[in-house]
Amino acid sequence: MTKRKATIIIPVFNEEGNIIAIVERLNKIFENLPGIEFIIIFVDDGSTDQSLPILMSLSEKNPTIFYLSLSKNFGKDNALMAGINFSDSDAVITIDADLQHPPELIPELINWWEQGYDVVYAYRKDRNIHASFFTRIRSQLFYYIINKLSDVKLENGISDFKLMDKRVIEVINKLPEDKPFLRGIIKWVGFKQMPIEYEPDERNSGSTKYDFNTLISLATHGLTSFSTKPLSFAIYLGFFFSALSLFYVPYVLLSFYFHWDRGPGWASVIVTIAFFGGLQLMIMGIIGLYLGKTFIQGKGRPRYIIQTSNLNFKNK
Ligand code: UDP
Ligand code: MG
Repeated sequence: MTKRKATIIIPVFNEEGNIIAIVERLNKIFENLPGIEFIIIFVDDGSTDQSLPILMSLSEKNPTIFYLSLSKNFGKDNALMAGINFSDSDAVITIDADLQHPPELIPELINWWEQGYDVVYAYRKDRNIHASFFTRIRSQLFYYIINKLSDVKLENGISDFKLMDKRVIEVINKLPEDKPFLRGIIKWVGFKQMPIEYEPDERNSGSTKYDFNTLISLATHGLTSFSTKPLSFAIYLGFFFSALSLFYVPYVLLSFYFHWDRGPGWASVIVTIAFFGGLQLMIMGIIGLYLGKTFIQGKGRPRYIIQTSNLNFKNK
């Protein structure tokens, strides 16, 4: 029987201190899984440190290590997509480079896969987590809102550490979406899915690549990728305030008629203008987010551009 093949995909954005460490950890795991042929694809997402030279020399010495280098930083999801597009194995496992996703869980992922699951994904236990209080609250709020608004249910703390079978990969390869929100999409595709818990480790070296602004834009992107409910929220809000004004207008008319209020009345005017002005801007913003997405999508630009790779000639 031929061995089944699995590809490990590792997105790398300035991870020079982690590459050798994760390869060593992974090799130990591979030794204990002799039934499967593993290869590793590192996707260099426009690193500006020594990551790419390290990857190049590593892959020269090791026939099962490949790299794909993008022409600039395209973001983690696009980097993962690049790796997924170039894999041709029976399963793909995506894992962070910084060793926060313990590679020791890979046998468990493989085990569920061998039992017939198409997607095995890890979500974070909330106990003992290596994150600040505010990071935790922020992430819980994100999952709370996304679960309320969208049809796809995401576990709190669901990660990009997961295994996907070839048939899931085939579906994902056909999706034309720009900046795919993979955590959501992979749940959305369906098939047989198995969640497993993991406890994140501390980052091995370097620091997180996400600052507060990036996180906010990722969160709005995640939300608007998976739901159009914010648009109907705008309609409800509109109805609510129109209904309110039905009471307010008679009051204004009556007070005019009975001379209840002879003052110039600018305060109430300003308050009303400010309030409704804000409301309208907010709703236009929501609509704008969606419009912006169709604009970007309409241009049909590639999700990523590859500047160099050793994949093609090594595979053939
Ligand atoms: N990453 C990437 N492109 C980016 C940002 C991050 O490829 O634009 C990679 C990064 O190198 C790491 C993984 O995505 O392998 C997770 O990033 P990080 O550890 O900074 O995220 P956190 O664990 O803090 O959420
Ligand atoms: Mg990390």
